[in-house]
Amino acid sequence: MKITACVLGTGLLIFTALVNSVSGYVQNIWETLGHFWQTSWLKFYYLFEGKEWTIFLLGAALVPGLAFWGFNGILMVADVTGKPTFITRYRIQLGKNDPVDTKKLRQAIYTVLCNQFFISLPMMVPMFYVMKWWGNTFSKELPTFHWFLVELSIFTLIEEILFYYTHRFVHLPLLYKHIHKKHHEWTAPIGVVSIYAHPVEHILSNTLPVMTGPMIMGSHIVSIAAWFSLALVTTSISHCGYHLPFLPSPEFHDFHHFKFNQCYGVLGVLDYLHGTDTVFRQSKAYQRHRVLLSLTPLSESIPEAPRRAE
Ligand SMILES: [Zn+2]
Ligand SMILES: [Zn+2]
Repeated sequence: MKITACVLGTGLLIFTALVNSVSGYVQNIWETLGHFWQTSWLKFYYLFEGKEWTIFLLGAALVPGLAFWGFNGILMVADVTGKPTFITRYRIQLGKNDPVDTKKLRQAIYTVLCNQFFISLPMMVPMFYVMKWWGNTFSKELPTFHWFLVELSIFTLIEEILFYYTHRFVHLPLLYKHIHKKHHEWTAPIGVVSIYAHPVEHILSNTLPVMTGPMIMGSHIVSIAAWFSLALVTTSISHCGYHLPFLPSPEFHDFHHFKFNQCYGVLGVLDYLHGTDTVFRQSKAYQRHRVLLSLTPLSESIPEAPRRAE
């Protein structure tokens, strides 16, 4: 008994010491990183001091735009050339867009650019004045990383609610026919198609759900830049058509493009509550979706050809 207590006691002591030193280490890295970001931001701030419009456009439009086109540029090389060859083994809907029709792709790129320049960009004007009213967006002091994480969670929640309901709204027969059908032309989507949509849909479902969070929270421009970039890259992943290891699963939204009346949301919480994911939950896609880290190429993981026949 004594020996057991002694072993347990020593174990507990070592464990506590280990936790303390690890958390101290993490805290150090945290502070150093925070210091680095704060200094970098101040350099940038003094470079553009007083030019709030320039800072706003760089943070809310240019940085997210570069993130979107940088990420999709890589995906498009794979879509058009089928190279690197290993990537096609991770394709969700086998045989689709293999390779992608370049004429269709050019049309998609044209629509996406129009949406970005003639809709997203003008929407920055009212957003700028809302952010100015809050008075925090161009502050010299960056938000703490903890606060940024809180904001990110709130942004994600707001996006889920607004995207889910506006998306279901544009699925009403009349609106679908005139508005949302365009986005669904791609039954096997690719990354860039994430904002291939009718202008009304681009305002309602693509831009507003992402813009509302920062406007409610009066966020800093650096948080806005990070959130917009993250939102654009994650929606591109949801549409990319490849279930790649180390990236979030795109099976959920890919299934929406495949079945039309399933999986309307982003996170899947509201689909679960409204029962709009019941068919998805019985599918092979759902089995693959639940595997957090799919190291095995899809073509080997589930012996099913073609996978579309679910
Ligand atoms: Zn979509
Ligand atoms: Zn839809």
